[in-house]
Amino acid sequence: MPEGRIIKALSGFYYVKDHDEVVQCRGRGNFRKKKVSPLVGDIVTFEAEQPTDGYILDIKDRKNELNRPPIANVDQAILVLSASKPAFDDVLLDRLLVHIESNDITPLICITKLDLVSNDSQNTINQYVECYRRIGYPVLLTSSKAEKGIDEFKRHLDGRISVVAGQSGVGKSSLLNTLDASFNIDTDEISRHLGRGKHTTRHVELLQVGNGYIADTPGFSSLEFTNIEEKDLSLYFPEMRKVSSECKFRGCTHIAEPKCAVKEAVKDGLISEHRYQHYNQFYEEIKNRKRRY
Ligand code: GDP
Ligand code: ZN
Repeated sequence: MPEGRIIKALSGFYYVKDHDEVVQCRGRGNFRKKKVSPLVGDIVTFEAEQPTDGYILDIKDRKNELNRPPIANVDQAILVLSASKPAFDDVLLDRLLVHIESNDITPLICITKLDLVSNDSQNTINQYVECYRRIGYPVLLTSSKAEKGIDEFKRHLDGRISVVAGQSGVGKSSLLNTLDASFNIDTDEISRHLGRGKHTTRHVELLQVGNGYIADTPGFSSLEFTNIEEKDLSLYFPEMRKVSSECKFRGCTHIAEPKCAVKEAVKDGLISEHRYQHYNQFYEEIKNRKRRY
């Protein structure tokens, strides 16, 4: 039975990629009994007498699934931040990292628009790069305009399914367009020119880059911590997770307790101040949310 990956879903059809061929399929088969519908990213078995007339027979078990955009089997989230215009937003970065850690997806931090960085602000950016690399996160430095760092970016996409995330205007679409001239994703300038909003088409498509795929629609737009408990929050800060077993009290929140290994590590400069501050900020946010409901 042939097997392939759904790379696009549109108007009731699923486009299944099997080696170099894309087969247009309808859904039919055992998966209906399981009450799951096919998702972009799914690995499926199918049968087709012609490339335009196939049927999906079964869906392989998923590693994970995202709601927005609706994609299964995501390996990596690329967090795009601009070094300038808009200014580097470290709160947003940490917020995204918590979401991604809690979804068990591997993050890749990508700082773009590097061509806009002045000598003064280069230092600040370097400090952030060092901080996140020390935690163990891969950090890429790119510029779509100057076409810098794109080969390395491509290497990180190989063999994986990736989704991009980040605030609007940071350069996500421009970065995707550097990967392949045929992508033609609307950037701010193009949308303004055509007088339409970005991502007006709501279907998702996986674009092939080497042996990997990248989703053409950004994800992780809702950044409220709805599914996160405050007691679990430090699990999603790897540098805190690493030292928290040394805290004197079990279930230490790392906020007010004495003999807290996390607070010691902040004092010793092993954990960044700004990361610890964001932890406190998010912790409050989760607590207040629970009070509201
Ligand atoms: P998105 O909303 O995150 O998809 O951002 P876009 O890709 O639409 O980019 C927003 C704006 O930033 C556009 O005007 C782009 O031309 C500009 N831009 C994107 N990448 C770069 C870059 O590397 N350097 C410079 N100078 N401008 C960029
Ligand atoms: Zn502690």
